[in-house]
Amino acid sequence: MTGRVLPNLLNPLDRSGDVLAFPRGRQPKLTEAELRAAVAAQMKDAEIAERFGLSKQRVYQLRQKHGLVRKRQPRGARARFEPKIATERPATMPPVDHPALTEARTIYPATVVPVDGLLNVLVSGANHWKIGSRIQKGRWAGFPVYTLTLEERATCPDSCRHWRSCYGNAMHLAKRVRVGQGLEDRLGHELAILQSRHPAGFAVRLHVLGDFYSVGYVDLWASFLARFPALHVFGFTARIDGRNDPIAAALVHLVLAQWSRFAIRFSNAPIDECSTVTVEHPRQVPANAVLCPQQVGKTDSCSTCALCWQSRRRVAFLQH
Ligand code: SF4
Repeated sequence: MTGRVLPNLLNPLDRSGDVLAFPRGRQPKLTEAELRAAVAAQMKDAEIAERFGLSKQRVYQLRQKHGLVRKRQPRGARARFEPKIATERPATMPPVDHPALTEARTIYPATVVPVDGLLNVLVSGANHWKIGSRIQKGRWAGFPVYTLTLEERATCPDSCRHWRSCYGNAMHLAKRVRVGQGLEDRLGHELAILQSRHPAGFAVRLHVLGDFYSVGYVDLWASFLARFPALHVFGFTARIDGRNDPIAAALVHLVLAQWSRFAIRFSNAPIDECSTVTVEHPRQVPANAVLCPQQVGKTDSCSTCALCWQSRRRVAFLQH
């Protein structure tokens, strides 16, 4: 995959120009933290090269520079259950007094962009190696996948257990869409286009970064489900305190009413179903949970797995 799949907002009937090439010019950088996370996730050099827009040789050089040498398995040795594990969050932690933590924002404020500066806010899952572009199995098989990325911490509850160790700390290239009326209007337009392009169904992953930021925003997604019958949503939320957080209460209501099309899991919530749990080692996976198969190399991506929306069973994730 060499580009981003973008809805053509100007001419919804023109489907020929879906794939836009990456911009020419200076190659994006690959930081040491990102490279370490990618190697720990067992990504091949070719995959890293494609993800970050570098050559395979450059990735190899950077690995050598940072001492990230891949160990060869002895011949005939049985593959052991070890570094093949892709952790849920790369080990990137800002210092505890970093202003982003106290000001509830990303550590990359320049990456927060207004909707007006974006051709589209829903981006193909092909741009996220863990998500994938088209669902391969289960009830939603064949659906293309789109993602939405918001600003981490600014939209999240400060009770999130990854407030400091957020996945977004290692994503300096990700564009975070600024939230507000502009985003909400644009979502309506783009979902209408996707509904007409994919009447048999499409999926939206909420949110690569960020979270549901208001009751009105939750209600908006409820209205989208009613307006766009092809829309299916999956993802995770750190809003789990339904007693004290009205956004969480609104989400619980919507998830229970619409799970078959709105499979949002409550992260580390003390409930048996529609939830996740974070563990440090596969031995700690509770009896009522299934370890994310992608993290242990049993499947390539969410699109080839489908567990999160196919089943209500709790899903366990490995913490870094
Ligand atoms: S369990 Fe499957 S669908 Fe859920 S996050 Fe892991 S790979 Fe994705």
